[in-house]
Amino acid sequence: MEQKLQGRKLMTECNKCGTGIEPGESYEFQGKLLCEDCYMDVMNPPKTCDPWAVHLAKSSIIQDGFQLTALQEEILSLLKEHGPMQMEEITAKLEINEAEFRNAFATLRHMELARGFKKGDNVYYTLFSQE
Ligand SMILES: [Zn+2]
Repeated sequence: MEQKLQGRKLMTECNKCGTGIEPGESYEFQGKLLCEDCYMDVMNPPKTCDPWAVHLAKSSIIQDGFQLTALQEEILSLLKEHGPMQMEEITAKLEINEAEFRNAFATLRHMELARGFKKGDNVYYTLFSQE
């Protein structure tokens, strides 16, 4: 009996597109077995009511043609205009919180567009190319 069940399991087909699925590579969604492709489809439908989420997904740094978010561009132009600034000044100026700043800045630093440096006891943020 158990053998038979195992055999059935090996012949799993995707309930959506009918592709044969290797054992261990099937995904269950709302009671249906799906292959990885179909599972990705249902988990990330092309149409969504949240354009910002789509925008964020498309802004992933690993993708080609990466675009900065509006906030990241604001930070860059602020630093360009004012020179090195402390986080408190930047967050106050852009009306964002510390977490938002750190998030945005992590990307800028990763892309070598901006950096932080220490002066005395204070940390300043500046454009990567700026002294
Ligand atoms: Zn499928």
